[in-house]
Amino acid sequence: MRLPQKNGAIDREKATALIHHAIDNGVNYIDTAWTYHGGQSESFLGDVLAGGYREKVRLATKMPHWLVNDRQDMDRILNTQLNRLRTDHMDYYLIHSLTADGWKRIKENGVLEFLDRAKEDGRIDNAGFSFHDSVDIFRQIIDSYDWDICLIQYNYLDENYQAGKEGLKYAAEKGIAVAIMEPLRGGNLARNIPPEVGNIWNEADLKRTPAEWGLRWIWNHPEVTVVLSGMNDISQVDENIRTASRAHPGSLTEEELGTVRKVAEKYRGLMTIPCTGCNYCMPCPAGVDIPGCFDLYNSNKIFGGANDGGTKHRYLLYQMDVLGERSSASLCINCGKCLEKCPQHIDIPEKLKDVEALFEGPVIKLKASAMRMALPLVRKIGPLKYRQMRKE
Ligand code: SF4
Ligand code: SF4
Repeated sequence: MRLPQKNGAIDREKATALIHHAIDNGVNYIDTAWTYHGGQSESFLGDVLAGGYREKVRLATKMPHWLVNDRQDMDRILNTQLNRLRTDHMDYYLIHSLTADGWKRIKENGVLEFLDRAKEDGRIDNAGFSFHDSVDIFRQIIDSYDWDICLIQYNYLDENYQAGKEGLKYAAEKGIAVAIMEPLRGGNLARNIPPEVGNIWNEADLKRTPAEWGLRWIWNHPEVTVVLSGMNDISQVDENIRTASRAHPGSLTEEELGTVRKVAEKYRGLMTIPCTGCNYCMPCPAGVDIPGCFDLYNSNKIFGGANDGGTKHRYLLYQMDVLGERSSASLCINCGKCLEKCPQHIDIPEKLKDVEALFEGPVIKLKASAMRMALPLVRKIGPLKYRQMRKE
């Protein structure tokens, strides 16, 4: 999803060289999805992996469940993806970006029977899902099927966010492979480092780049199976491969872990709202995802700039009932029930007003309702026809 780009499209020459270089040097897992790069990622990868590279990697793609109208759509979408990727089977097939709402809908549409059938007929080797909701929902989904793999967000700032460490351990105990996304929070933990954070890294005896520290911290967990890192330059590929070859579960010393803890604390100190994501305030009777709202707000404030659009987009998808039930800050009815539960003594209703002001302006509201209106039509006529119709 983060391939090099030129004039708004994938820079085919650079991206091909990058992927071939990565595979030639030991990268053996490639992750894509229907939606990446405006729908171009899968067919581009199909071209890149032709001629012998497909056989050298485990290939993963994802079902855009929000485009699925019925059971037949699942077969149609998977077959299109196999076609685009120029392969007869997916090593890993994940339901993309599950939330409680998405899970309910796709299950009612027969996704478990579809996964069984696609495994039986050989189109899928391993079935899984990627996840964006609370750890309780994660446990429910994990317990609902004989999954082979799950994909969760995890990094040293997100130990208690969404599935988090609890979810990581729960899945691993059940023998399910755990792939990690956002290991460097979309690159924010690797670049534009605030000076206060940079000082801590510089004071460490061992000199490592922030990216290496972040990745080493994840690979230190024995429960982690594979880490997905978006790379768009050969120097990043080489650095990540060097890091991977040195990283082993349990290889960081107490002192090294202490350095990462200090950095995480420093980042938290820079957060405008001191929410730790502990979830004690949940559930909110009005349906506000309090830690989710605060996390996106803090991310926006710390990393700002280039991250601004990213946090707004995520808020739009996950808090404004485009991909799940609405859980946005503006639902707050100021009942005060959450206040006494917060160990950080955050004035939650007051802070939610700041979140609302940042994320629920007229443009985002308009975009959310446009997406909500478009979805039933996309499901009815199919995503390909819809895209064509929009072009016309
Ligand atoms: S004050 Fe607002 S956020 Fe807190 S529990 Fe009540 S409705 Fe939910
Ligand atoms: S209880 Fe407080 S610190 Fe914990 S998630 Fe809720 S707002 Fe954040």
